[in-house]
Amino acid sequence: MGLFGKILAKITGTAHASSADWAELEAALLEADLGPELADKILHAARSAKSESASQAVISTLRSTLCDKSRAMSLQVPSAILVVGVNGTGKTTSSAKLANALSANGQSVLLAAADTFRAAAVDQLLTWGERLDIDVVHGAVNADPASVAFDAAQQCLARKTDCLIVDTAGRMHTKNDLMDQLGKVKRVVEKVLPVSEILLVVDATTGQNGLTQAKVFAESVELTGIILTKVDGSAPGGIALAIEATLGIPIKWVGSGEAAADFAPFEPEAYIQSLL
Ligand code: GDP
Repeated sequence: MGLFGKILAKITGTAHASSADWAELEAALLEADLGPELADKILHAARSAKSESASQAVISTLRSTLCDKSRAMSLQVPSAILVVGVNGTGKTTSSAKLANALSANGQSVLLAAADTFRAAAVDQLLTWGERLDIDVVHGAVNADPASVAFDAAQQCLARKTDCLIVDTAGRMHTKNDLMDQLGKVKRVVEKVLPVSEILLVVDATTGQNGLTQAKVFAESVELTGIILTKVDGSAPGGIALAIEATLGIPIKWVGSGEAAADFAPFEPEAYIQSLL
């Protein structure tokens, strides 16, 4: 039984759920990384419903909390996808996995190793490229990320490749530097190709911290979707709901391991079921 299953069984069908049952539900909601506001909203929905339908009220609140924007990727050809996020969240891995998924879907793809501030990121993406048989455009370590992205965009256009995926830098001296850098990468790419998606990578195991990071990025760049990584780890899973409720940005992809195949579109209904 999922996170909520046992508790929902307790508060449903009985004439009166005890105050201990409600306290247990509240604790479970908070432990699930939903955050206090969302936990309150769900509790309120459950308590205002008749006891027989409390469980249904919780489920429909979970459902209505998820974002109703499209989770489909833009099909514009050619175009660029910027993959952004804090170092360590799985940005480089997800860029490669996304390239693999789009390529399996029949699109031609080029990768750009523009995370030039993390020495290993360029090598890591090159290794992925070899493994997946997808070309990677890169510059020297510490090269200007925007110049690598620009070069890659030009190559994408020249080669008539459908889609460029840019692995961007995830760490700078200050948050403002990082956001300025992302803005610059976007501007230079747009001189050559439309940017159809800006996907933020969020590590599910970082809980509410991941939500805070997402807010910072959402304030600075126009995010079109989220890639939620490491759902195979110890994360209780509520972070997906918290992100969508707080930011209104759809989770488009989910990473569930270190292999290329551990990557799939986010399925809202399956997700709700996994919580129950
Ligand atoms: P970046 O610094 O954001 O580019 O992060 P990386 O792509 O280098 O990933 C950091 C670590 O997380 C690496 O060891 C990856 O193999 C691992 N990783 C990435 N995505 C996932 C995932 O979905 N599940 C698990 N278990 N590990 C992941």
